[in-house]
Amino acid sequence: MQEFLSAIQSGAPGDAIAAIAIPDIYRAAFVLRDEVGMFDGLASEDKDPRKSLHVSDVAVPELAPDEAYIAVMASAINFNTVWTSIFEPLPTFGFLDRLGKESRWGKRHALDYHVVGSDAAGVVLKTGSAVRLWRPGDRVTVHCNYVDDQSPSAHDDSILADNQRIWGFETNFGGLADLAVVKANQLMPKPRHLTWEEAAANALCNSTSYRMLVSKHGANMQQGDKVLVWGASGGLGAYAVQYVLNGGGTPVGVVSSEKKVDLLHDLGVEAVIDRKVANYRFWKDEHTQDESEWRRLGKDIRGLVGEDVDIVFEHPGRQTMGASVFAAKRGGTIVTCAATSGYMIEYDNRHLWMKLKTIKGSHFANYREAWDANQLVCEGKILPPLSAVHDLQGVGDAAYQVHQNLHEGKIGVLCLAPEEGLGIEDPELRAEVGEDRITLFRRHGA
Ligand code: NAP
Repeated sequence: MQEFLSAIQSGAPGDAIAAIAIPDIYRAAFVLRDEVGMFDGLASEDKDPRKSLHVSDVAVPELAPDEAYIAVMASAINFNTVWTSIFEPLPTFGFLDRLGKESRWGKRHALDYHVVGSDAAGVVLKTGSAVRLWRPGDRVTVHCNYVDDQSPSAHDDSILADNQRIWGFETNFGGLADLAVVKANQLMPKPRHLTWEEAAANALCNSTSYRMLVSKHGANMQQGDKVLVWGASGGLGAYAVQYVLNGGGTPVGVVSSEKKVDLLHDLGVEAVIDRKVANYRFWKDEHTQDESEWRRLGKDIRGLVGEDVDIVFEHPGRQTMGASVFAAKRGGTIVTCAATSGYMIEYDNRHLWMKLKTIKGSHFANYREAWDANQLVCEGKILPPLSAVHDLQGVGDAAYQVHQNLHEGKIGVLCLAPEEGLGIEDPELRAEVGEDRITLFRRHGA
């Protein structure tokens, strides 16, 4: 891979990159099938990704006709890598085994190691014989909607495809590695004003937040909407509040420290609740919720923005869903894509039906939505919330930070890129967007 790195860094043309032989092995971060029981009996928070994530050489798989090899310059941590590395709610080897039964090409994925990672920025090295729109040398980011487009179910809204998967979570050969194998329909142009690590941070969380809030498939946010955003400085939330601001709405961000409140204010979010200070106790005990605490949240929101919110951007799940359903206004929407604190959800259905509210499920994004969300990053209208950068050897530490909620925004991971700050192709656009704005989370995270 070092030969590829030298070629990329010297600006070699696509033909020269195409002429370099693909190696037999590459460096990757993975979990092992024979370690899936290593945390048995431990509480979730005690399961340590630093113990289960390994970095070593693995074999380069054969390339299918509709795929490309990518030199991964940088990747990023997503919560799904935390789930894989703590083997919750299920070990991901089951996903790989199912994919393995689908086809000759699917079979490559069913291995005793799972190379993880669902974000990447890098350079196309080689394309399969059926790839038409991309060629070696192209600088790209990768979205993680992995779809077999031969199924008719993939042709309305591809996230509804019956064999839709998340690359690097439900497939092997993910982005936390020096090389990745992706379908051509996962590729998008790299934002030219961003570094490799800034570019790699976006696709998964940015596209998910775009679908949840902006897309007609999600909450279909309108100008003037007020939106409650849980985890507003986290991976999803940091994009969500930007979409609300860009769309002429008013975000109400919820975070858990003074430092995060300051960060959101610097990002332009005026209405912020520090949930640690507010000390909401939505659950009296494991079985009973406290409606008076939901009411206290509602009052705090009205105190900040004058009325109830049109949309609640949900992902913490069990801890907050009852409060979220309560806090949405009459006719409002609760859009949810996750359940970090538990997926067996409880809410008071009277607040839903009597006030004609809607709970909308959402999952990642289709190619169109991911592309449109990426375009907004390319134009400098959505900023990368990159707060810290680790190298690939430190991937366990990076996942640990996210698991323990010690981070802000996104944590980047350098793969082939030898240092931070490389890969900017359009310094003029960078200056126009503003170095200070682009690096806001990085400076706060430092
Ligand atoms: P993240 O970077 O860890 O941010 C989540 C934030 O939520 C945390 O920083 C925390 O912020 C807040 N939070 C956590 N537990 C909470 C609780 N009990 N009550 C209130 N707030 C809580 O993670 P992320 O990348 O945003 O992902 C969030 C979840 O969405 C994960 O479960 C992930 O797997 C899922 N996800 C799903 C999709 C999909 O396509 N379906 C895509 C992306 C992510 P504060 O402590 O500051 O409040």
